[in-house]
Amino acid sequence: MPIHFDDRDVVSEVAGLSSALIVPCYMCPAITVSIREEQPFIQLFRHFLKSASFEKYISRMKSRLEEQGVRTDVFKSAPSHEWFMCMWTSGKRRRLQKASERYDAVIVLGCDSATETARDASQQNGCKVVEGMQVAGIMNAQIRFRFPGDISFENCRTVSIDHDEKDDETWEVARH
Ligand code: SF4
Repeated sequence: MPIHFDDRDVVSEVAGLSSALIVPCYMCPAITVSIREEQPFIQLFRHFLKSASFEKYISRMKSRLEEQGVRTDVFKSAPSHEWFMCMWTSGKRRRLQKASERYDAVIVLGCDSATETARDASQQNGCKVVEGMQVAGIMNAQIRFRFPGDISFENCRTVSIDHDEKDDETWEVARH
């Protein structure tokens, strides 16, 4: 049940700062972008465990920030448990703490739990913590495997997690 996201305007959030470190969670946000762009989440034999559409998304964000004069880098994570920011090891959190010392802001691509991970690791360095994405709901989708190694999501709907509403509202975001 990956979380589905909308984008936030990160450029205005870091306006006036000189550097930012993009810290992506490589699971739910990568699935969101792959669904939005109607691309496979993973193509094992073309990009191994990288989600090509998410890599392009991050790269476009980096370019937009650099056009505004913000030096920007990306905090990488190895494919494995490191993909899930909500479950990072203490070692990974320490690495972010160390890395974030060199930036004015960290831009989190992930949910509130991902932001909490980043905030714990970086706020004591005085970094501004910026949320690059906003939770839109929980994804309901059919996972599909295609030969030779493509993994995609089809018939996707976003299910609201707003419990203040009387009835949970569902709406279709993509149908292949
Ligand atoms: S940190 Fe949030 S966005 Fe990332 S895998 Fe966990 S629940 Fe999904």
